[in-house]
Amino acid sequence: MYKKNNIEVIPVIVPASNKLKSFNFFLVKQENSLTLIDAGLNTDDCWNSLQKTLKNHDYLLTDITGICLTHHHTDHIGLVNRITSTHSIPIYAHPYAIPVLKRDSQYMKMRVEFFRKLYQEMGCGELGEKQVVDSRNPISLNEDKKIHCEIQEITNTQLLGFDIFEIPGHAPDQVAFYNKESKWLFAGDLVIKHIPSKAMIEPDYDGTRTKSLIQQRQSLEKCLSLDIELVFSGHGILLENPVDLIKNRINEIDVKADKFINIIKSGISTASGIAQLLYKEKYEKQFFNIMSEIIGYLDFLELQGAIKKEMKKGIWQYYIK
Ligand SMILES: [Zn+2]
Repeated sequence: MYKKNNIEVIPVIVPASNKLKSFNFFLVKQENSLTLIDAGLNTDDCWNSLQKTLKNHDYLLTDITGICLTHHHTDHIGLVNRITSTHSIPIYAHPYAIPVLKRDSQYMKMRVEFFRKLYQEMGCGELGEKQVVDSRNPISLNEDKKIHCEIQEITNTQLLGFDIFEIPGHAPDQVAFYNKESKWLFAGDLVIKHIPSKAMIEPDYDGTRTKSLIQQRQSLEKCLSLDIELVFSGHGILLENPVDLIKNRINEIDVKADKFINIIKSGISTASGIAQLLYKEKYEKQFFNIMSEIIGYLDFLELQGAIKKEMKKGIWQYYIK
């Protein structure tokens, strides 16, 4: 347990068998509230860990007064339905998260078409099409991940004793909850100690492609401007005095960008060409993550003025400027 001034944080840390190491979510006790920040995966492991943690601190599930979500990913929202099926409490999320969390059919359809067009334009051909067709099933099968209760949009810059910051990049709807008095930050997956957080390509609300790596870098910069003693990360260990790690993460982006310049210099001009060169057989297996990364870096270099793009026969070609 972490206690400071009028705030108490009880982490719920659930071991993960993958490289995320753990799924973390947090009970935050303040004067008149017991808020859950994020809600793990929808597994018995997470559910039992939450129950056990509550019990160890003499709380009941019904003592939880609200849930704040840092972003819409399934490993951060998993227990929302289980918790709200026993008692109705407010759930807060960024407005962009809501159509995804509600599995809004129009939004989901838009999302499929968004990726179809994107992968075509990035030169992914049949493989891209296959990914899109495959992704339709998860959308209908995803029904069990739909949040049933009402979700309130986080539109203010303050909520439940926290300053709210938009920190998009890893997800377009990612927000940070910062408690000024304690200098504690809940930042979802923006900074993780043992692995760099991935900037994922997504459409925003109205189908515009988010420039996720540029956003990720800006969100990291934004955190550097805050006075932070402790970051409650979504995975792995908690981060004390995170300034050096955040600076490293920004530097890693800049160093990796140079690698992409060299590849484009060598004459490879499409995102799918870069993916095949860099990732070989992994390209197909981890298609979404890899394309997210490459498109993210291409956007980043374009913004910096290092490269330019030109559409040829419906496919974006990238060149050194
Ligand atoms: Zn995530």
